[in-house]
Amino acid sequence: LRLKEGLSRTRKTFVRQIDALFLGKRKIDAELLEDLEEILIMADIGANTTQELLGKTREQVRRNELSDGQALKKALKEMILGYLRNADRPADLALPTQGPFVVMVLGVNGVGKTTTIGKLAHKFTQAGQKVLLVAADTFRAAASEQLQIWGKRVGVEVVAQQAGADPSSVVYDALDYARPRNFDVVLVDTAGRLHTKVNLMEELKKIKRVMDKKIPGAPHEILLVLDATTGQNAISQARLFNEAVEVTGLALTKLDGTAKGGIVINISHEFNIPIRFIGIGEQMEDLRDFEPNEFVEALFA
Ligand code: GDP
Repeated sequence: LRLKEGLSRTRKTFVRQIDALFLGKRKIDAELLEDLEEILIMADIGANTTQELLGKTREQVRRNELSDGQALKKALKEMILGYLRNADRPADLALPTQGPFVVMVLGVNGVGKTTTIGKLAHKFTQAGQKVLLVAADTFRAAASEQLQIWGKRVGVEVVAQQAGADPSSVVYDALDYARPRNFDVVLVDTAGRLHTKVNLMEELKKIKRVMDKKIPGAPHEILLVLDATTGQNAISQARLFNEAVEVTGLALTKLDGTAKGGIVINISHEFNIPIRFIGIGEQMEDLRDFEPNEFVEALFA
């Protein structure tokens, strides 16, 4: 799936509607900006981000910098690109010079965490790296089964223990296993049960400590997976997980299934956490490195 096709639903509602604003060759006035506000909100760009975008647009209108629809679109595109490039945290993955690159993957059940891990395993394998998957969601038996299915599909090893095992000891043993066997990448699946929030956050903190103890500096990436179709829920999940363990990167799934792809812009504006990957389909190949420029071009294409 190409990025442009993956974003087609968002493009249709968002950018096509902006185009439609100018069909009657309306001039940019207060009424038009109100319509624009509605379009931005509908695309899940978020209230704060929408107000900021509108404020800047009004300012440009006042200065007579926006003569027509094309100029307004171009200005929006530039502002959006600015938000997407906003993150303070390193834009590149912190690959270690020695030993495995350990990625701790977080996310609420159902967001597409296992699928994203499978896609990442495929991506790294394609790049010639030796990948190990670790099933540290011992709370749900199905989670480990799902991961093993992905392991088979991609052709990588999976470390798992029986349901109910202590997640941090699974991780401890897995890193013991990975080190002497020269794995390049270790992707650790963690639990995503949100109904026992406190326990879960403590569990994640403990896993993180164990990783660092086993391999100083690990985890090198704490990747939070968010479902782009869930709007505000995705925002509150990001806040929650980031408070517990400092999230270093985001993966946004299911962008193909939503007209509300503006959530990407919203999240970039709300958090100083880079978006690393976006999911645009259910297949192994449907994961893209997130590149702000490419994203904006595909959205406005
Ligand atoms: P988990 O509970 O977070 O591990 O979620 P899963 O990985 O099992 O995914 C839940 C569902 O979302 C599955 O049906 C996946 O195929 C689907 N899914 C995951 N990522 C994407 C995506 O980028 N696009 C689409 N359309 N579906 C996805």
